[in-house]
Amino acid sequence: MYEVDVAIVGAGAAGLSLAHRLSAPRFRTRPRTVALIDAPPGPLRPPRRTWCFWEPGPGRFDAAVTASWQRLRTRPRTGAPVEGDIAPLRYKMIRSDAFEALVAGQLASHPAVRRLEATVEAVEDSHLGARVHLRDDQDRPRVLRARWVFDSRPLDSLPAARTTLLQHFHGCFVRTSRPAFDPATADLMDFRTPQPARGLSFGYVLPLTPHEALVEYTEFSPQVLTPTQYEAAVRHYATAVLGLGELEVVSTETGVIPMTDAPLTRQTGASVFRIGAAGGATRPATGYTFAGLQRQTRAVAAALHQGRRPV
Ligand SMILES: Cc1cc2nc3c(=O)[nH]c(=O)nc-3n(C[C@H](O)[C@H](O)[C@H](O)COP(=O)(O)OP(=O)(O)OC[C@H]3O[C@@H](n4cnc5c(N)ncnc54)[C@H](O)[C@@H]3O)c2cc1C
Repeated sequence: MYEVDVAIVGAGAAGLSLAHRLSAPRFRTRPRTVALIDAPPGPLRPPRRTWCFWEPGPGRFDAAVTASWQRLRTRPRTGAPVEGDIAPLRYKMIRSDAFEALVAGQLASHPAVRRLEATVEAVEDSHLGARVHLRDDQDRPRVLRARWVFDSRPLDSLPAARTTLLQHFHGCFVRTSRPAFDPATADLMDFRTPQPARGLSFGYVLPLTPHEALVEYTEFSPQVLTPTQYEAAVRHYATAVLGLGELEVVSTETGVIPMTDAPLTRQTGASVFRIGAAGGATRPATGYTFAGLQRQTRAVAAALHQGRRPV
């Protein structure tokens, strides 16, 4: 006998997206019971972060969108920038705390979704279902039986691949003393940054108001930088390249996204599936992660609702 129909491991971008879809009014008949399990505050929980992605027209998470742009620009190392209108697409920015609040609001109104704060240690496929081995908030071992498990815990290591590059970046939400940004246009790739010996780098400016923007330095290369190197790279981009002048750093974020052509296993047991980055959402074919994992979780939710296997 199962305790829940669906156990979702991890309440990050993928886990929350799947839980949001399964708790939507049209899914209220099936699956009936969902457990969303996330690690307690501590080292397993990712820090606050910002997700950007494009989609046509209105989207299901628009209430959490901080800003969006229809005009995008890239800047080559020399010469004129290339600028264009991406209609019908819009490039949207969602901050993780706004996304978490939006999904939490919907889950709170769904009687059959339980949220658990626990560390999942293992997921074991068993006859017609799976067991989730976890440690609860008082460090007691527990087992949760589920018909289906969707596991978004990050992989310990990536499988061997022809190509593995790291997309790694450091960004600052800044406030300038003079109006320095055009909120109508986002600079997606500005190649006027110093280029690394292997790979490439670019700057990134996502303006929120004439005085506020997320300014990032990104590399696609084999190795991450030190915190000091990231700070120096963003500072150089903001001051020497963009000439922003006096500015206040409001908050910072750092990320590493492995880009690999390795085949990632989506299904790890008869009843156990990986979702999110662990389930291949960062593979080049799926596009940028947030959009890729929306496609994954939409397909999973539709299959469960229709009583099909969520392959
Ligand atoms: C600063 C930053 C900016 C980014 N910007 C973008 C962007 O603009 N666009 C984009 O597409 N991607 C972006 N990414 C990448 C994107 O955040 C991740 O790829 C995305 O969050 C993947 O979603 P996920 O659900 O697979 O993993 P996560 O969002 O990392 O969620 C994993 C979840 O698993 C939980 N967990 C881990 N271990 C356990 C355990 N043992 N037991 C229970 N729970 C556990 C964690 O608490 C977490 O909630 C960014 C990443 C960072 C860090």
